[in-house]
This record gives sequence, structure tokens and C-alpha cells, in this order.
Amino acid sequence: EQRVFSGVQPTGNLHLGNYLGAIKRFAELQHDYPCLYCVVDLHAITQPPSVWGGPEGLAANTREVAAAYLAAGIDPKTQIIFNQSQVPQHAELAWLFNCVARMGWLNRMTQFKEKAGKDKENASVGLFAYPTLMAADILLYRATHVPVGDDQKQHLELTRDIAQKFNNDFAGSIARNGFEDAYFPLPEPLITGPATRVMSLRDGSKKMSKSDPSDYSRIVLTDDADTIAKKIRKAKTDPEPLPSEAEGLAGRAEAENLVGLFAAMSDRSRDDVLKEYGGSAFSVFKPALAELTVEKIAPIADEMRRLTADPGTVDAILSDGAEKAAVIAEKVMAEVGAIVGFVSGRKK
Ligand code: ATP
Ligand code: MG
Repeated sequence: EQRVFSGVQPTGNLHLGNYLGAIKRFAELQHDYPCLYCVVDLHAITQPPSVWGGPEGLAANTREVAAAYLAAGIDPKTQIIFNQSQVPQHAELAWLFNCVARMGWLNRMTQFKEKAGKDKENASVGLFAYPTLMAADILLYRATHVPVGDDQKQHLELTRDIAQKFNNDFAGSIARNGFEDAYFPLPEPLITGPATRVMSLRDGSKKMSKSDPSDYSRIVLTDDADTIAKKIRKAKTDPEPLPSEAEGLAGRAEAENLVGLFAAMSDRSRDDVLKEYGGSAFSVFKPALAELTVEKIAPIADEMRRLTADPGTVDAILSDGAEKAAVIAEKVMAEVGAIVGFVSGRKK
């Protein structure tokens, strides 16, 4: 049985990379798989409260990510949209995976190194353990496919390692509990589409990110047309005109990123875009890109604003989704507990 799981952190600043690399893909996949799309609030709090805006910020950001899912066209009647903290089994399974994963595995995670920066002693334990919680999110639903941006590839590999080690460590018990094969599937990353790694507008070697201190590094979904035009106008580029084929973008990270964005948003290949704009200066290409960006994201932003103006409706969708997610999560956690040997039986 196949199932999709993915999530976005409610840390504010939802940007074009989140939309093109993740949320837009989520909406496409609902036609092929049953899907769970989670607002991962337990992940957001691995960073200091200033990053996610404290308690009021967290609640508002959670509703905003849910609104983005809905505005992108994910159907809450047929798919499951919910926030992580409403299903406590995420944290429960994460603990178990903390005991399965090895320190050495987590020590290799580049996201922790980047986010903790130089002051590792001062990073939260949660930030270090982020990947075991992510493994729990996915495996709690025994999901088989996980659509993510390119930056999450390493965490998906770790998820597979955790699933495999659990399956091996408990193989006998898994069989005695009546499971023919391995208990957890080894989930496949779905890192596909034209925008798996959207880069910062200020630095073509860094990914566009919610937590980048520069507002000019990213286009936020709720930016108005003037702001979008200004950010694209100020985007870093080189002085050369655009090449006439995608091959000519090699070694020109910033130019490659902008052409890639144009291609992704217009559903065209980069070669096709360059057939039109090859030889053009950025002074010609940038306004066209700005216009296309506004055309693509303004309707989503409008719908997000409409939805977040009515938090009651969004909250009802999240709690309804959590109810549906919990049905799966409770069953899996009970089976996992039996496999590990936890004595149970308390009346609920
Ligand atoms: P942060 O910097 O706080 O980690 P983020 O921008 O990475 O924020 P997340 O909530 O961590 O956002 O990621 C949500 C999804 O968006 C993930 O699937 C991630 O891989 C994807 N994603 C994030 N940044 C990009 C990007 N620049 N290009 C494509 N996909 C991205
Ligand atoms: Mg991230």
C-alpha cells in the first residue's frame, strides 16, 4: 500500500522555493496517492522562539501554512491536512527512533551544521534530533513516498536507515507479531520537478530559505507586486546577456536560478525559455520574470489571505485532519509498542 507524507515548518516567510519545490508538488500528487500533509510545528520549535515568532507567531504561522496547502489546491476532504502537535504519537515514535539512530549518523547531518552555525553548544537538543522526528513523521504512517526539496535528501536517507535498523533489530518480534515482512517500508524521496532547489536571490550558492536574515534573498508568497518587482530587480546577476541554450548557464548560478524560476512557473523547459530570451539583458528578462511571478503567486496569496481571515475554518480543517491522522498513528504506535515489548492495556 502506497502513501505520501510531507510537511512544512510554520516558521513564517513561506517562499517561492517552498511553493515550487514542495507545496505545488503536494497538490499534484494527491491525484495519484492518498496523502498526508502536515504543518510540522514540533519541528519549528527546534529553533529559538525569535525564529518562529513566539506563541502568537507560531499559531498564526501554522494557520498560514495550512492556508497555503489549501490555496495550492490540496483537498482536505480527500487528503489529510493537519498540524503535528495534535497527534502526540509523532513525539512518541521520535523518542523510540532516538534510541534506534546512532550519534554518528546524526553527527553527519549538514542541516544541523548549517543551522547551529558556530555556536553548537548553544543549539537545542531538538535541533540535533530533528531528523529522528522527521523519520517518525513519515514512518508513523508507514508512508512510502515523500515529496521534498533537494535539501531534505540526506534526512530521507537517514529515515531509511532508521527504518532498516528497526526492521533488523526487531526482526524476530516483527515476525512473531504477525508481520510477514519488514514492519516499516523504506520510504522513497520524490525530489522531482523543475524547482527542487530554488536559490537565494542574493547568493546563487545558497538555497532560498525562510530563515535567511535578508528579506531580499527570497520572494515570500504574500509579497505584493511592487515588492516582487523590486526583489527581482535587485537580484544578484552577472553582467552577461542570457545564453541561447541551457548549457550556457553552467557556472552562472544566479542566471541559472532566475531562468529556472521562469521555466518552473511557466511549465516550460529552460531551453525553451532561452529560445525566447537568449541574448537578452537582465534589464529585459527581470521585468518579464517579475510579471510572471506576480501572475502565478497573487491568486494563491489572495486565497491565503481569505482563509487566514477566518481562523475558525482553518482550525476546524486541522483538527478534522488530525482526527483522521490519529486513526492511523494510534494503530501503528500500538503495533510498534507491541514489537518493542512495551506492556500495555491501560483503559483509555
Ligand atoms: P528553514 O530555513 O527554516 O528550514 P525552509 O525554507 O527550508 O525553512 P522548510 O519548512 O524547512 O522550509 O521546508 C519545507 C519544504 O520546502 C521542504 O520539502 C524543503 O525541502 C522545501 N524547500 C525549502 N527550501 C527550498 C528551496 N529553496 N527550493 C526548493 N524546495 C525547498
Ligand atoms: Mg528547511
